[in-house]
Amino acid sequence: MTSMTSDRTVRHERFEFIRRMPKAELHVHLEGSIRAPTLLELAARRNVELPARDVAGIERWLTFRDFDHFLEIYLTISRCLRDPEDFQLATAAFLEERARENILYTEAHLTISTHVANGANGDEIAEALAETVAAGEKDLGVRLRWIADIVRNVDFGRADQTLEWALDHLDKYVVGLGLSGKESHPAQPFREHFAVAETEGLHRTVHAGEQSGAAAIWDALEHCGAERIGHGIRAVEDPKLLDVLRERKIPLELSPTSNVRLGLVPSLEEHPLRRLHDAGIPWSLNSDDPALFHTSLTQEFEAVGDLMSMDLRELAGLSMTALEHAFLEDSERTSLQRVFRTWFANQGVDGFPDGR
Ligand SMILES: [Zn+2]
Repeated sequence: MTSMTSDRTVRHERFEFIRRMPKAELHVHLEGSIRAPTLLELAARRNVELPARDVAGIERWLTFRDFDHFLEIYLTISRCLRDPEDFQLATAAFLEERARENILYTEAHLTISTHVANGANGDEIAEALAETVAAGEKDLGVRLRWIADIVRNVDFGRADQTLEWALDHLDKYVVGLGLSGKESHPAQPFREHFAVAETEGLHRTVHAGEQSGAAAIWDALEHCGAERIGHGIRAVEDPKLLDVLRERKIPLELSPTSNVRLGLVPSLEEHPLRRLHDAGIPWSLNSDDPALFHTSLTQEFEAVGDLMSMDLRELAGLSMTALEHAFLEDSERTSLQRVFRTWFANQGVDGFPDGR
């Protein structure tokens, strides 16, 4: 067998394995996951004028041009979600896609305050979403939990509203408080929100070190008690920060395609992922806004698997790392870990590196 043929065989085996293996995703936004057909349906319901009327046109519009265009897309999508049934439709489609990709566990960000500002009723949405999540668990075998996102750069009152919504619905699959938006706005003003979240049993994750440098990650740790960092790619610029992340086992939620599409790194080959990995930082792989970046968790695994020439054991380890850092109760984590391990063991894959 020539080496080219054997490369192809290895790659084929890797892709097959990735497609079928159980996966978990920790960083994906519901609003950025709505594919064109569902978006067209929602827009028709809500009488929102989209720049195109067919799937191909919508997909072209959804292609990233620059940050302002990205925001315009995000706000337009948000206007297509108002009644509880709209959120149910978007979430049901999201869960079906999860099931097709064998993503057995997902934590999804939801920017609830934008929807409330657009006229949605937060309590009704929480109620409706809980129904859909329960159905997904029962009918499709996929679990979904919510992270309510505070947006740094909007009206400060919305942060109070977000925290309140999350605390009111702890019994409806809400597990965390997040911080997103423009990193030029510091995390410090949200210190109190995150302190209350911690006391009341909400987990904390913060988008940081994506648009801004390592200082934003230090801020997220100091002011928000972040248990995980969304993106965090610019941690590579600060060796002391790398030490802290490694010692405290604070994982990064990496979304390489998102970083490339948003122009934060020039190409996948130049992504700092390998340097972060070699520095011993735990990390998970994520799609962030799959509909907007034309990606999926499966595609992220394929791209990174190729980039780092990962073997099946390393791929399994990456899936297990996401579970290890999921905002789950220990009993639920253990039972999911067992499901994952059993599947991998049946493929002859075990002894993978945990926690890396
Ligand atoms: Zn994100």
